Amino acid sequence: MLNTKLLFTLGPATDRPGILRALLGVGMSGARLNFSHGTHAEHARRFKKLRAEAKRAGVPLTALLDLTGPKLRVGNLPGGKIILTPGAVLRVVYGKQALAANEIPISYARLARDVKSGSRILLDDGLLELRVRSLQGKAVLCEVITGGVLSDHKGFNIPEAALHVPALTAKDLDDLRFGLAMGVDFVALSFVRRAEEILRLKKIIRQAGASARVIAKLEKPQAIDQLEEIILAADGVMVARGDLGVEMSPEQVPLLQKRIIGLANAHNRLVITATQMLQSMMENPTPTRAEASDVANAIFDGSDAVMLSGETAAGQYPVEAACMMARIAKEAEHSPQYNRLPKVPAIEGSDDALVAAAVELAETIQAKALVVFTQSGNTARLVSRRRPRTPLVVYAHTREIQQQLNLNWGIESFRIQKQLNTESLLHAVEKHLKAHQRVKRGDQVVVLASAPISNRSHVNFLKVQTILA
Ligand code: PGA
Ligand code: MN
Repeated sequence: MLNTKLLFTLGPATDRPGILRALLGVGMSGARLNFSHGTHAEHARRFKKLRAEAKRAGVPLTALLDLTGPKLRVGNLPGGKIILTPGAVLRVVYGKQALAANEIPISYARLARDVKSGSRILLDDGLLELRVRSLQGKAVLCEVITGGVLSDHKGFNIPEAALHVPALTAKDLDDLRFGLAMGVDFVALSFVRRAEEILRLKKIIRQAGASARVIAKLEKPQAIDQLEEIILAADGVMVARGDLGVEMSPEQVPLLQKRIIGLANAHNRLVITATQMLQSMMENPTPTRAEASDVANAIFDGSDAVMLSGETAAGQYPVEAACMMARIAKEAEHSPQYNRLPKVPAIEGSDDALVAAAVELAETIQAKALVVFTQSGNTARLVSRRRPRTPLVVYAHTREIQQQLNLNWGIESFRIQKQLNTESLLHAVEKHLKAHQRVKRGDQVVVLASAPISNRSHVNFLKVQTILA
């Protein structure tokens, strides 16, 4: 089993018969439902299939709802596209439909107020670039800097402008309600700018009576300015390198990735590295060597999970891409480079001190497993953050907690009935570990739990258990 978790985006390519099951076979940990594309009906169908496949395989699989956020888009163009020639000047206007040739309609009403002469406008993931020359009433006259073909509905970014758009649009609120009703485990918010946006999303989720955890997608310069506050406000973050590279610049991405992952690790927040990891496998059955290196480096940097986007959602080789990602992760994890990694964080409080002791102890006695009982998932996350070398086996009472933990580094989780006391808990676990051939007679495991068992307890119990029979 891999320590690194694999998150795959679902889409038309995974809808084909047998693909989802094959992804599971490769070691998929969870799925992203990308609400920037597709209908509610499609997402509902995929979600149901995901839960059904997980049940069939007897494994927890995480469902992550990805909200579009305030993403700006191009409207309808005559004939579906327009050719942008470098040096040409065209009008960018607010609207759904281009009313004249040389006009680009966009979905942002305040454009003329929020840009100034010299502002950059990037289209289609930064492939095309315009620069504002002058304002003409509500229209903005732009010169084409990098040309090419622009088609309908592509995204556009205005990195330097402080946009007047709500963090959660009407569509996001609708998608959120829908996703929470389905029972997603995580909600990711795109284009986060401030920590308050995350706190507001958390509040809405709580008010809906749901317990989904929240991921901040880091892809705006404003978010980088407030990085630590946002990380602390969220349950996890995504290094959303696609838009991050457009909004900032490609050469800043590698260092930002290291900084984000380092801070997320330090604050015990889940961190997912995403986008273009195996991009060329959209069309080819093998990746570039640079992509293989990128996946491995995201792992060495300290990612909990690595993600595929279009590669699985819409590519020609979804299973090959997933398989390749798993192979790269395996190779990376078996390398001496990886073994040198654990940067041991400073101990924070008594729970963490006990967790740190358990990790030390397990390594010292070469325990066969580090067994963790968790109610809320907190103890399991504290252990995962220390990146133990001992296999980490977590017991939770509910499938929801299992699914929430399944994107965290190294956590393999099982469900166990609530027990009356610690004795019977230990007994049940021994039985379970033996049944799954994790231990044999004479082996030792290190156990972390809380005793006596109650719903609101802290971890306070550490034991070396020797398997007797
Ligand atoms: P997206 O987010 O795939 O939803 O755009 C990830 C990214 O921008 O990298
Ligand atoms: Mn993005």
